[in-house]
Amino acid sequence: MTSGYDIIIIGTGAGGGTMLHALAPTGARILVLERGERVPQEAENWSPEAVWKHRRYQTTEQWIDDEGRQFQPYTHYNLGGNTRFWGSVLYRLRRQDFEARELADGHTPAWPIGYDTLAPFYDEAERLYHVHGAVGDDPTEPPRGPYPFPAIPHAPGMAGLVAQLRAQGLHPSPLPLGLIRPGEEGGCRLCNTCNSFPCQVRSKSDADVCCVTPASALPNVDIWTSAFAERLLTNAAGTRVETVEVSVRGERRRVSAPLVIVSCGAVNSAALLLRSTSDRHPNGLANSSGMVGRHYMAHLATMMQGFHPMRVNTDVFQKTVAINDFYLHGPDGGHPLGQIQAQGRTHGVMAQIVVPWIPLWAYDWWVARGVDWLVMSEDLPKADNRVTVDSQGRIHLLYRANNLQAHQRLVNEMKRLIRKLGYWLTVAHSHQNRNTTHQCGTLVFGTDPRTSVLDPMCRTHDVENLHVVDASFFPSSAAVNPALTIIAQALRVAAHLRQAQ
Ligand SMILES: Cc1cc2nc3c(=O)[nH]c(=O)nc-3n(C[C@H](O)[C@H](O)[C@H](O)COP(=O)(O)OP(=O)(O)OC[C@H]3O[C@@H](n4cnc5c(N)ncnc54)[C@H](O)[C@@H]3O)c2cc1C
Ligand code: SF4
Repeated sequence: MTSGYDIIIIGTGAGGGTMLHALAPTGARILVLERGERVPQEAENWSPEAVWKHRRYQTTEQWIDDEGRQFQPYTHYNLGGNTRFWGSVLYRLRRQDFEARELADGHTPAWPIGYDTLAPFYDEAERLYHVHGAVGDDPTEPPRGPYPFPAIPHAPGMAGLVAQLRAQGLHPSPLPLGLIRPGEEGGCRLCNTCNSFPCQVRSKSDADVCCVTPASALPNVDIWTSAFAERLLTNAAGTRVETVEVSVRGERRRVSAPLVIVSCGAVNSAALLLRSTSDRHPNGLANSSGMVGRHYMAHLATMMQGFHPMRVNTDVFQKTVAINDFYLHGPDGGHPLGQIQAQGRTHGVMAQIVVPWIPLWAYDWWVARGVDWLVMSEDLPKADNRVTVDSQGRIHLLYRANNLQAHQRLVNEMKRLIRKLGYWLTVAHSHQNRNTTHQCGTLVFGTDPRTSVLDPMCRTHDVENLHVVDASFFPSSAAVNPALTIIAQALRVAAHLRQAQ
């Protein structure tokens, strides 16, 4: 048994990495357990072949879907977790996202905290992750001060599209982006291999760059990599975690600390608690509500591309604009539809993965004449959409997408916009039921222990020294990218823990 630590943090992504950043300066002795390794800085970081065709950095783990079929989830185990691969679009939830709301397919629950509670931590999160943006254009922007860094200017082609969108009466606004010194010598190069690629020059504001690597230099922080947390074991009464069972490069070890913070991501945190059964917790740890693993959400996401054979797209970094006009209601005033944002440039190799028999040169020709968008809608927290773990420890992801009609309306609206922007053709591709990119829910937070797993400070209702700080606390998924909210809540929980020390 290894002891002598004050805090164990499991996982180093948006939640765990940020917790480490916020708790390390207290001098508390912290042990970090991370199942992956550091992503090497190498030429392959920016190779579409390596990243997309050979899936160099993606886990090789197999999960099982709701029809019993195995699939390789699109998720990454390494220092910094999925943040190393993110597009760095770092949005605040809208004020309305914290309230109970009617969507086309049913209602979303209110959060136990409101926007104003999280607002100061959003400010801190934006500073920590170098968020660039500008207020004033977005009709859904919640009350806030200026961004810590100015918006990234639009490339010429995108600037033209923004003017056209404005002429149509829409309100395109700058995408809030976490980039370090964009356009400056030695900083972010505003390249076309950002979203889904690790940054070769470490200028993307990810959890490794902003939090884990700086904290690892401190003498009170130990980081074990290739350290897979298998189970959490409690005292006889089942009220406190006493031991973390961890497999370090195949060697089984036991570690202990008075405070345990789980941050494995929504799917893996639920799986860890479900694996941690005992006499006191026969259905999984902290699961007296029966809610562990339930209410999985992932957003409805469709990639769309406008194509025109005579319009070569010369923009390198085109991901700078969002359209939030349909976020709170549809064009006719109906239910909320979701968000539209410019997407990083598609590479021929990426497109070829969808239909492999078309030759690469044809795809390269095609994508050079396309402009890429992501259309995203909220999905509702359904108890039957859930993570389970079978007797062999395999993860089952039972997910049926909902709110499909609202999403289809947004896709149709975007098709109409793309036509009005002068493109001849629209191509659309959806990840559907195996979408794990924006995974959230599974251990929702709330004030009622009968219907939630975590309290509003992300401590489990059932186990007093166990916190879970990652995407799993979301009671609803909203329709903007989730990570800034994970980071802000991590900063809030850390401030609370520091105060309680
Ligand atoms: C390609 C891509 C693009 C994205 N773009 C955006 C974007 O632009 N904006 C945005 O807001 N979000 C984006 N996301 C989503 C964002 O990355 C996630 O919401 C965020 O990283 C979730 O943080 P987390 O802490 O919940 O989990 P993660 O970041 O996934 O971190 C979980 C960590 O736990 C580790 N771990 C898991 N299980 C164990 C275990 N048993 N023992 C030890 N360690 C364990 C993992 O290795 C990982 O390091 C994107 C995701 C992807 C994949
Ligand atoms: S250089 Fe900038 S745009 Fe390119 S991957 Fe790094 S952070 Fe992203």
